[in-house]
Amino acid sequence: MSNMVAPSQTPVWVNETRCKACDICVSRCPAGVLGMRLDPHKVLGKVIEVAHPESCIGCQECELHCPDFAIYVADRKEFKFAKITPEAQERAQKVRDNNYMLDTNTQRK
Ligand code: SF4
Ligand code: SF4
Repeated sequence: MSNMVAPSQTPVWVNETRCKACDICVSRCPAGVLGMRLDPHKVLGKVIEVAHPESCIGCQECELHCPDFAIYVADRKEFKFAKITPEAQERAQKVRDNNYMLDTNTQRK
């Protein structure tokens, strides 16, 4: 579990200093919440972004599969998560098809 203080009103959050941009959490997210964005300051040139927190269903797939303990999900007792929608599933598929990168249609406006 996290050694960070959980931010309030946020279903999922990231410790960017731990993230090695492996894409695993993005590949597991069924709701298109996550995606990679380009970041020239990172070793691999990209980093995870929580692009659609409002769609998080709290399944914990990201947290459970992150090899670096870099992503955390709020406690169900303290946060009301969304229900999965067809739009969220479609967005997740688009991110997977885009090599886990966010694109202009999936990034939060
Ligand atoms: S699984 Fe962990 S290390 Fe990999 S991209 Fe996600 S947050 Fe970063
Ligand atoms: S808890 Fe589930 S829905 Fe929320 S970001 Fe993680 S994998 Fe996606």
